[in-house]
Amino acid sequence: LTILGIESSCDDTAAALVRLDGGAAAVLASVVHGQTMLHADFGGVVPEIAARAHAEKLDIAVREALARARLTLAGVDAVAVTAGPGLIGGVLSGVMCAKGIAAGAGLPLIGVNHLAGHALTPRLTDAVAFPYLVLLVSGGHCQFLIVRGPEDFARLGGTIDDAPGEAFDKTARLLGLPQPGGPSVEREAATGDTSRLRFPRPLLDRPGCDMSFSGLKTALLRARDQIVAEKFGLTRQDRADLCAGFQAAVCDVLAEKTRRALSLYMAEAPAAPLIAVAGGVAANGPIRAALTDVAAEAGARFLAPPLELCTDNAAMIAYAGAELYAQGHRDDMTLAARPRWPLDSASPAMLGSGK
Ligand code: ATP
Ligand code: FE
Repeated sequence: LTILGIESSCDDTAAALVRLDGGAAAVLASVVHGQTMLHADFGGVVPEIAARAHAEKLDIAVREALARARLTLAGVDAVAVTAGPGLIGGVLSGVMCAKGIAAGAGLPLIGVNHLAGHALTPRLTDAVAFPYLVLLVSGGHCQFLIVRGPEDFARLGGTIDDAPGEAFDKTARLLGLPQPGGPSVEREAATGDTSRLRFPRPLLDRPGCDMSFSGLKTALLRARDQIVAEKFGLTRQDRADLCAGFQAAVCDVLAEKTRRALSLYMAEAPAAPLIAVAGGVAANGPIRAALTDVAAEAGARFLAPPLELCTDNAAMIAYAGAELYAQGHRDDMTLAARPRWPLDSASPAMLGSGK
């Protein structure tokens, strides 16, 4: 079974081919065209610019993926596409492109939830059995999911405001460090003192797995301004200490909430307990280390897929599409693009063209 995957829900135009052979999955090709340069002057992704760039680049990405996999559409069994959630112009571009290919080549069409793509990635890279726990932690998302099947997710909690990646990016902006903020802040934090500036650990005093990261940004702004007022500027060390204090707070919050999510998950008595991370923030060394420790404490295996499959890509969409296809799932030309699509709700097909 060979599936073409298409992803365009945020600022990456991606196409991939994934082959499913019995239980084993292989990525034949995965093409990602980022748009960072296009949005660099605006301090964030501009939806209209993103949509136009997707519309221009999608067929190029598909062609490139087919060429790299040495395939034509004749060797493809189905087309899977991100049908939401995301920036609607981008999602629409991808869905229209996929419908065109499906209609033109007479292939089945499968609408995939972008978050399901992230959540199923551990099964693309490793022989992981249901149920497993996933912490999805990226620029736009932060949530714990028990993955019980390709369409069966239980959300245990998540951020009530910003995602951690967003907080890293804002921190970098406030300190004049380059974007994306995650890697810059991590680099600075490496030489910083985590004990000099104490940042809050939001919501740790409340039960459950919900998190909040927007207050951290305000705390960082205040700490920065106080140092600037006292010393008329920031030294390299001040910046490093601010980054270290901020990163330590994010680490502590993620670690404690993961501990709680793990105990809820372990109550289901999984045969082979496993927690996996997905999303760009999973690249962070100290966060990975903290999660590894928490998993070991709970007696669960910790899995971090390769980074290029953790950040937005189309291989995860093709793979999720393959799992849905294997379950008999098919969409048709009424497949709707959805800006919002919570993972633990029905699929667009079940909702009738997504209304
Ligand atoms: P989505 O939320 O839809 O998955 P996204 O593009 O916002 O998409 P990703 O591509 O998964 O998210 O990840 C990008 C985010 O990950 C950015 O916010 C970036 O700062 C963060 N990030 C990348 N590397 C690191 C790191 N080493 N430490 C912390 N954060 C990081
Ligand atoms: Fe994503």
